[in-house]
Amino acid sequence: MRIECVHGDITEQNVDAIVNAANSSLLGGGGVDGAVHRKGGDRILAECRRLRKNEYEHGLPTGQAVATTAGDLPARWVVHTVGPVHSESEDRTDLLRSCYHNCLAVADDLGAAFVAFPLISAGVYGWPVEDAIDQALQTINTTQTSVALCRLVLFTKETHRLAQDRLIRL
Ligand code: ADP
Repeated sequence: MRIECVHGDITEQNVDAIVNAANSSLLGGGGVDGAVHRKGGDRILAECRRLRKNEYEHGLPTGQAVATTAGDLPARWVVHTVGPVHSESEDRTDLLRSCYHNCLAVADDLGAAFVAFPLISAGVYGWPVEDAIDQALQTINTTQTSVALCRLVLFTKETHRLAQDRLIRL
């Protein structure tokens, strides 16, 4: 699998599937989640509501992933995953890595060859950015998947620079 890092907006990626850094309600929030629902339109929210009514009555658990349509976005699917909130007292790295791992498993089920990820948990959920980049790149790099191209989308120039730096050392 090829991995690339780009500076940009996840909602504008012309790929098979984009990943949403969702919250467990699946009903929208801030950051990536807000942008996905705002720009993706009502069809995404309608599918999320159905998921809440059926498979995920209590919300999507942290570390898991589930797909919906991408509505009005250029991508075909949105894979929603819930990153862990960063904690000083508890190591939640395995949950963060599960997000990437499970999103790639969902992408495999969909037959998505080209997948774009945001930097899960590195916004409102407070994960230190450099470690968030390392966990993302290492997990993507070591997961067995049919996905051919994985793009990590960094929202700021600074995080993009850091990610490029880490990608070269992978
Ligand atoms: P979380 O709740 O998992 O921390 P956030 O959406 O708050 O998720 O932020 C995750 C990362 O995505 C942060 O690095 C943030 O700067 C970045 N981000 C926010 N909006 C976008 C966007 N539209 N496209 C790509 N990355 C974004």
